[in-house]
Amino acid sequence: MSGILYLVATPIGNLEDITFRAVRILREVDIIAAEDTRHTRKLLAHFEIHTPLIRYDEYTDAAKIIELLLDGKNIACVSDAGLPAISDPGANLVKAAVEKNIQVCPIPGANAALSALICSALDTTKFTFAGFLPKSTKNRKEILTELSTHAETLIFYEAPHRIKKILEEMLEVFGNRKAVIARELTKIHEEFRRADLISLAENLDAPRGEFVIIVEGCTKIENPVEENFLDVYIKLIEGGTDKKAAIREVAQKFNLSRRAVYNAVLDFENNL
Ligand code: SAM
Repeated sequence: MSGILYLVATPIGNLEDITFRAVRILREVDIIAAEDTRHTRKLLAHFEIHTPLIRYDEYTDAAKIIELLLDGKNIACVSDAGLPAISDPGANLVKAAVEKNIQVCPIPGANAALSALICSALDTTKFTFAGFLPKSTKNRKEILTELSTHAETLIFYEAPHRIKKILEEMLEVFGNRKAVIARELTKIHEEFRRADLISLAENLDAPRGEFVIIVEGCTKIENPVEENFLDVYIKLIEGGTDKKAAIREVAQKFNLSRRAVYNAVLDFENNL
């Protein structure tokens, strides 16, 4: 008989968010496969769990874990925080386990995307989870452009060093929309900024911590890309308007700061 693969949610900050069932399963399984064993060891120490740990990260071959499951071992897969397989390792393991008819069992709990969404005050009936945007500016713009016509609320994960730039790019592609930054969820410095892309981008200085960005879906019937302020800027330049005047006109038309338009133009020119 094969063992069972449990996908166990762990807290995204506040340790009280672990469930009774998660603690019991982590105690009862034969092995815990963790994204980062050093990180998980601290969690296990807190809850006095002494189950053996092995590493399972994005570079680990799922076959090693599958072998143990086929050998009858019950295994709990955990990531550093939240739900495994959501912008975290686990999805490949589930796929490989299902292919071998191994039972896969969810142990639900904390998740950053849904925790941010439910407090956003934006539409929660339909949403798209977009996870982390790509590293390359070109690929990022392509994805944002594709998402720009989605009517449902958009959810993104983001790292602090990129968040300002990403908000400016969203503004450039989506136009100004309602948006929410959810920071340090369930931790001491938990914070929600509910505003629009312009004011969020302009008022974010040296951000710290972990972030989820929630953006209102497309509410326009026509394609919002037609409203892209860079397109208007390019048309002005092609029509002979000088750069400074074009930036001023675009900033006025789209109710943006000249600095935001200037930065977007610089970015655009650097990526030509
Ligand atoms: N598996 C996790 C989940 O279920 O939410 C997500 C892991 S992903 C590698 C890490 C990203 O999730 C962070 O960069 C951030 O965008 C978001 N995140 C995780 N914890 C968070 C928190 N406490 N507050 C805000 N965002 C968080």
